[in-house]
Amino acid sequence: MVTHAHSDHTGALPVVHEAYPEVPIYLTPPTQELVSILQRDALKLMDREGDVPLYNERQVESMIEMFRPVHHGDRIQVGDIEIVYLPASHILGASMVYFGTPAGNVMFTGDYSVDAQRTVPALDRPALPVDLLVTETTYGNRMHADRRTSENLLVSRVAQVVEAGGRVLIPAFAIGRAQEVLLILKQALRNKKIPECPIFVDGMVRSVCGVYSHHARYVSRSLLRDSQRSGHPFFTGTITAVGNAQERKDVLSAGACVIVASSGMLSGGPSAFYAGEMAPVATDAILITGYQDEESPGRALLNLAEETGSRPLRLGDKVVDVRCAFETYSLSAHADRMQMVGLIEAMRPRTVVLVHGDMPAKTMLADSLGCNDIVYGEEGVRITRRYARRRHSVLERSAEDEPITPEAAAALIGPSTGEPLRAAKLAEAWFGKRVAAFRQERFVQQLEQTGLVRRDDHRRGILWAQTKAAMPADPSPEDLLLAEALKVENPKGKLLEWCMRRRLERPEMREQPEDTGWHVVEMELEVDGERVSSGPQRAYTKKVAEQLAAKVLLDSLSSQEQILEATAVDETRQAVLEQQNPKGKLLEFCAQRKLPTPQFEVVAVVGGFRCVANIGLNGGTLETQPFQATRAKVAEQAAAAELYEQLRSSKTQRPSRKAAQSAPPAAGASPVARGPKRPDARMQLNEWRQTKHLVSFGYDLVDHQGPSHQPIFVMTAWAELPGGDRCTAGPVTAGSKKEAQMAAADALRTVLEADASFTGLWSKPS
Ligand SMILES: [Zn+2]
Ligand SMILES: [Zn+2]
Repeated sequence: MVTHAHSDHTGALPVVHEAYPEVPIYLTPPTQELVSILQRDALKLMDREGDVPLYNERQVESMIEMFRPVHHGDRIQVGDIEIVYLPASHILGASMVYFGTPAGNVMFTGDYSVDAQRTVPALDRPALPVDLLVTETTYGNRMHADRRTSENLLVSRVAQVVEAGGRVLIPAFAIGRAQEVLLILKQALRNKKIPECPIFVDGMVRSVCGVYSHHARYVSRSLLRDSQRSGHPFFTGTITAVGNAQERKDVLSAGACVIVASSGMLSGGPSAFYAGEMAPVATDAILITGYQDEESPGRALLNLAEETGSRPLRLGDKVVDVRCAFETYSLSAHADRMQMVGLIEAMRPRTVVLVHGDMPAKTMLADSLGCNDIVYGEEGVRITRRYARRRHSVLERSAEDEPITPEAAAALIGPSTGEPLRAAKLAEAWFGKRVAAFRQERFVQQLEQTGLVRRDDHRRGILWAQTKAAMPADPSPEDLLLAEALKVENPKGKLLEWCMRRRLERPEMREQPEDTGWHVVEMELEVDGERVSSGPQRAYTKKVAEQLAAKVLLDSLSSQEQILEATAVDETRQAVLEQQNPKGKLLEFCAQRKLPTPQFEVVAVVGGFRCVANIGLNGGTLETQPFQATRAKVAEQAAAAELYEQLRSSKTQRPSRKAAQSAPPAAGASPVARGPKRPDARMQLNEWRQTKHLVSFGYDLVDHQGPSHQPIFVMTAWAELPGGDRCTAGPVTAGSKKEAQMAAADALRTVLEADASFTGLWSKPS
């Protein structure tokens, strides 16, 4: 019997299986999937690290063949023992296991939590008679800080580090904790509590995240709704997975970002790699969110807080000097002392066996319990008890307990009105009388198994109908907020207006019907021969779904357009421009000096117009940066003002004026010298071209993958050196063309700086 997938409960399972190869292994379907991922990953790790393997692939696959999935509430009969799996909250698929035996009833809690987490609902108090209780005691001597407070502290710390340009590493257990952290960050991004920055997910976390979408019954209602809305429970445009060692290096050179990586105690895996690179950097931070073993590098790191002077930390076979910030935040997935006492007292067991905790935790919990028969569970301790029968036994079974059929359940629940249902009321209606708590509990589990109801994440006695028409009648407060925000923002209106200005066809709109009564809308647009799609967007009304699709489409269009950073013209500046009419002055100035007529290139972009002004001079072209305004005339005026200013203040009127102003590398100075903040690599390349250290440079879009609302751009950068040599860098990948160009430019700069024939140019007098 396996309670849940955490490796302190399943790590040795292949070894146990080898000893008892014929014995079936019972676990819930999510636990089955998680353990399979975990064990196959462990094989790879053992292989890579060259350890003597504890077991091999054959053993793991043969173990997986013995897995027998069992749902919460299902009964298994083994001889005269009846076994029931019950939800334990804690992590996806975690279970308490109940044994009804002729000698008494045993409850084995495994790890459990009481309050709802973001991924899993709160604990249902098991309403079964318990004689002997085996309970975990991890936090038997602790009281948890308020969960919301801890989350808020974590979020504001992340925001602080990222705003200052630093990187944040959150090492997290691949199963459970990492997903909780991702959901906290996802919400913080949505509520703008942390600035827009990439969030990278690395290690086994990646594959584990996918499992949550396969087990709707086991995840919290809020997570289910969220993933139905955004397509993936954890990943979004900004939250992405890191695939390999190269990408891992790219992540570290990406600037301000958040990295969520396993393992949780820095004892190996990508988190140890990132910690090794980030610990010596004073602007970075490592934020610990879980239990740290005495022997673990994570605990060693936290212990350094006491140290003054140098702070060496061993990570694998590497020792680093810790300069980054580090703190710990309590996001526990275990019950604390008070919660354990509440639960145990309610079950009124005659014997309590304390396991899974250190001595201080066990002692403190033992002192808090009313039970007279408390056993400190230790290896090799044999416990023998026989109990007199109580009035209710799980083995008692009457015709009433035959599982309710799906048809009968549908009739009982009826179409949803959007109002919550009370479990007690439903049970009373079904049985025609009030029934014992354990019978009601069993009935609710049967209803849940039909998929027609879901319990509330927090108030477990409350049920929500999932019957047809339930969804449109029951948008969540978040859905309503989103709808309200979309109404104000009106992305559909903006999109149509933009299409008109660009003289494009209106976007093509497709609606797919859905059983639930919700609406799925996809919008597609052809821009410059390329089809851009919103992907299917789902909402409880057609209007909201359309707005959502338009918003996604606009976002992806504007991220493609922002390849050139434009200076936005604000209202104050606009008023000044309209009054001064710099375009008139510029034309007059050029006419007087017999200069060519300046050209204005205006393009319609999302949210307005963008203008670049240029003038041909001495065989070259003097060009302004792009200016963006809501009206084309204003953008033109802004560009004209800049060009006018440049022409007037330029004595020589050479095209390279702009470069001269922005401080190119001085003769003799090496371009490799790094300041505290490096300029954008694209600017740097441009400067080098203007100072003739490069003949030319550019970017090639090698590939364009992924759905259009979440595209991946693969880009290389190249440069031609004065000697005729050609130099390339990349390919790099990014979520927008602009980011891909920036990354490719950065890679190219690194290659150039390492190239002696290029850096040699600086030692020659120019
Ligand atoms: Zn656990
Ligand atoms: Zn555990």
